[in-house]
Amino acid sequence: MSLTIRSPEERSCVRCGRTEAWNEDVDAWRVPEGDEGEVACIHDWDVTGEFRPVER
Ligand SMILES: [Zn+2]
Repeated sequence: MSLTIRSPEERSCVRCGRTEAWNEDVDAWRVPEGDEGEVACIHDWDVTGEFRPVER
């Protein structure tokens, strides 16, 4: 039996609509063209309730 740690491959901001996709090649989030959202936004990622950068 193996333990699999799942991590989100996509996330989107519920505030400005920015979407990001995880790129394994560079180990970083990549933003598709045109989905940058608000630069000044404190992004609130709608993933699975985890990985929230800010407490509310
Ligand atoms: Zn945002």
